[in-house]
Amino acid sequence: MFEKDTIRILEKALAKLEEGFEALPDFQQSYDLERIEELTMQVAEIMQNNYPYFHPYYAGQMLKPPHPIARVAYMLSLWINPNNHALDGGRASSALEKEAVAEIANLFQWDRFLGHLTGGGTMANLEALWISGQLRPGLKVLASEQAHYTHKRISDVLGLKFQSIPCDEKAKMDVHALRKMLESGDVGTVVATIGTTGTGSVDPLSEILGLKEAYGFHLHADAAYGGYFILTDNLFPETRVAYESLKEVDSIVIDPHKHGLQPYGCGCILYRDPEVGKHYKHDSPYTYFTSSELHLGEISLECSRAGASAVALWATQKLMPLVRGGEFALGLSKGREAALAIYERIVVDKRFRTIFPPELDILVWAPAGESASEISERSEAFFQKASEENLHLATFKYPSSSLQTLWGDVDFDHPHVLCLRSCLMKPEHDEWLERIWQVLDRVVNLVLS
Ligand SMILES: *Cc1c(COP(=O)(O)O)cnc(C)c1O
Repeated sequence: MFEKDTIRILEKALAKLEEGFEALPDFQQSYDLERIEELTMQVAEIMQNNYPYFHPYYAGQMLKPPHPIARVAYMLSLWINPNNHALDGGRASSALEKEAVAEIANLFQWDRFLGHLTGGGTMANLEALWISGQLRPGLKVLASEQAHYTHKRISDVLGLKFQSIPCDEKAKMDVHALRKMLESGDVGTVVATIGTTGTGSVDPLSEILGLKEAYGFHLHADAAYGGYFILTDNLFPETRVAYESLKEVDSIVIDPHKHGLQPYGCGCILYRDPEVGKHYKHDSPYTYFTSSELHLGEISLECSRAGASAVALWATQKLMPLVRGGEFALGLSKGREAALAIYERIVVDKRFRTIFPPELDILVWAPAGESASEISERSEAFFQKASEENLHLATFKYPSSSLQTLWGDVDFDHPHVLCLRSCLMKPEHDEWLERIWQVLDRVVNLVLS
C-alpha cells in the first residue's frame, strides 16, 4: 500500500547531490548498522499504532498525506540538513523558500509582499498578531467563536486583549456583532477565518473589509486550512466572493502542511506591506551576515527552521503548480465534491441530521435523535463502530445555542451536542465515496437499533 518507488529515486539523487562535494578530501564515518536496523525495525512496529492517515478510509481529522515528491525531496535534503534561519545555514534552500513563498503569495495576487515559512500555522499566526500588536499597541484582537483557539492563547502570550465575536447559524462571524464591538473604538485587529477548523466555514470577508474602511483595523486572514481553496472551481458563489477579497487583507496565514501536501513543520505568513519587516529588526551578534541580501533570519520570529521544508515545498509546487485548473487545484475540488455528495445523501435521509452544506471539504453531521444527549451518545457510538469497520471519523462538539434554530424539534438538554466530522482532504475520497457511504449506511443502522 505504501509508495516505495521514490526510494530508488532518492538513491540516484543522493549520488547526484554528493557529486557537488567531490573536491573535499574523503571522509567516512562508521555506524553500528546492525543496531540501527534493529531499532528501526522496532520503530516500524511501534508506528503501526496509528490511524491509517494515508488511506481513503481515514476521513477524520485534518490529516493529509504528503505527496511522494515532498517526501523524497525532504529526505534528500536531510543529508545536508540546511537551516533556513540564515544564508550561512542554508544558501540553496533559502533561495527555494523565497521562490516557493512567492508562488504562494501569487495565489492572492501579491507580488510586493513580505513572507516566509514557519514551523506551522500557530507560529505564523503568532507572528501576524505580534506585528498587528506593534502597529496598534494596546488595542484588542477580535476573532469569531469558531476561530482556532490559538488566537486567544496567542493574544495572552503577546499581552493583547482578546474578545470573541458570535457566529451566525453557518458558523461564520456575525458582522452585526462585529460592528457593535468596533463601535467601542478599542479594536486593533480583526482575525477573519477562511475555513474554520471545525466546519470549514468561511467568514464574510468582503463585508468585514467594508467595516475596515469605516473603522480602520488591521485585518488578518487565518487561511491556515482553507487558503488553497482559492484555486478550486466548485465553491458556492458566496464563498467565492470571500476568496476574491483575500488580496485586500493585511496579512494571511496559510499552512502548506494542511492542504499543501507537505510533511509537518510547514506554515506560511504573508504581509501585504513589506514595510512591516522593520518590526523584526534585530542586531544579533550570532546571526551571520555573509550576504548583503535579505536573509530569512531577519524576517522571522523563529530562528532555526527546517530548510528541508522549503526544499519539499518548492519541488511539490514545481510538479503541481498552484494554478486554477491544475492537478493540485483539481485534487482540492474533488475532496469538496466528495463532501457535497455525502451531504446530499444524508440531508434527505431521516437516519441522520445535518447542519449546513459544507463550504469547503469538511462535513459535520450527526445520527438522528430527540435530545442533545441522545444525539451525542449516538455520535460517540457511531465513531466507535465506524472505527471497528476501519472507517475513521472525528467528532466535534457543537454549541447547542448554534443549533437551536436549525434543529427546532430537538430537546437541548446539554450546552453542547457531539457531532461527527469528516475532513475529506484526499482526492481519492471522491472515488471511494460509494464504499465510504456503504460503511456509513451500515453503521447508522447499528447505532439506531
Ligand atoms: C490548523 C489551524 C491552525 C493551527 O495551525 P498549526 O499548523 O496546527 O499550528 C490555525 N488556524 C486554523 C484555521 C487552522 O485550521
